[in-house]
Amino acid sequence: MTTLISKWNYPTTVRFGAGRIKELPEVLADVGIERPLFVTDPGLAKLPVVASTLKIMDDAKIPYGVFSEVKPNPVESNLTAGIEAFRKGEHDGVIAFGGGSALDLGKLIAFQAGQQRPVWDFEDIGDWWTRADASAIAPIIAVPTTAGTGSEVGRAGVITHEATHTKKVIFHPKMLPAVVIADPELTTGMPPFITAGTGMDALAHCLEAYCAPGYHPMADGIAVEGIRLVLENLPKAFANGNDLVARAHMMSAAAMGATAFQKGLGAIHSLSHPIGALYDTHHGMTNAVFMPYVLAFNREAVEDKIARLAAYCDIKGGFDGFAKAVMDLRKELKVPHTLPELIKDLDMDEERKALIADMAVVDPTAGGNPVKLTKEGARALLEKAIAGEV
Ligand code: NAD
Repeated sequence: MTTLISKWNYPTTVRFGAGRIKELPEVLADVGIERPLFVTDPGLAKLPVVASTLKIMDDAKIPYGVFSEVKPNPVESNLTAGIEAFRKGEHDGVIAFGGGSALDLGKLIAFQAGQQRPVWDFEDIGDWWTRADASAIAPIIAVPTTAGTGSEVGRAGVITHEATHTKKVIFHPKMLPAVVIADPELTTGMPPFITAGTGMDALAHCLEAYCAPGYHPMADGIAVEGIRLVLENLPKAFANGNDLVARAHMMSAAAMGATAFQKGLGAIHSLSHPIGALYDTHHGMTNAVFMPYVLAFNREAVEDKIARLAAYCDIKGGFDGFAKAVMDLRKELKVPHTLPELIKDLDMDEERKALIADMAVVDPTAGGNPVKLTKEGARALLEKAIAGEV
């Protein structure tokens, strides 16, 4: 019984369904936000999906500010500028609107605007989160426009520390959005590359959570159904961006992945984090590249579990059948098979490879890999992903 001990956290209120973005004024009132800062990214800010959402607030005569200086893979200068906008506009809450980058930055602005210590003091290490003044954290409403990161149901924000080229996870329980509006209509404008990358991110979250050791049967259950939803719906959403049913199921799978990964992640993320920080690649697409190599690397520890998963997903052939399904899905979504196909003119000498392996083993996700990730193991995985040898 000593191993059947665990801590479980479950998400927040989610208003799920096509068209529900029109409920934004009601949600703001429920949460008690009167002067929201609307945080999005510069690409989205130019799209009709933002204009139509701002019009909903205009029509309801809600005074708001807009902040859109958010890089994909946000950095500290984005956070500093966002906090300045938050304070200058005397805002009392944040609407985080966009993909993982805008959601994370919006959450971090709401968290950090009232703190006295530097944001790096709140990295997700031990009980560092208790250093924060919880009463100074502003409420957050999250509105995802991609279906991948699941940041909308998470209690953390990812930000790149530029000086060390590392992605840091900043954690606080109150960074969990008070309400999520999950409206699949908002995701129909995603171009196929982003649909594929974000969808594969959701798959990576579910798969790594399911394979992580530890006692969390609820996370496992959520992860397997999330995987089934991705396998059945991502190809449809990729082929036809306006397929609202497929978009809706992908939006659920994304939230399920982030709910499940409280159990742990693994080597897909341990390698994709340093690659993302050093080469500024798309997070989900980088996960997608590493997925089959890591699955093969972990085979001895997860073979039976994956066979059970394959059976649930109606895939024949146990572990091998599932591994093939992942390869076929990647092909269908035009995911690069190797790192040189992902990163043009890839410059990775021996020193750089050693650095990536060093960064991978200390990444907080490494501990969740079912096979211990050593420097040699991380280096071998990197070489395989360069050569394309699964
Ligand atoms: P993203 O937010 O970086 O967006 C990618 C691109 O898609 C942007 O150019 C954006 O403008 C565009 N886009 C977004 N929605 C669109 C729409 N509906 N129509 C057209 N274009 C649209 O991508 P992402 O994959 O959602 O997020 C990645 C970020 O999330 C990374 O910084 C990653 O580290 C972070 N992340 C966070 C968590 C977490 O738990 N907090 C988990 C995984 C990843």
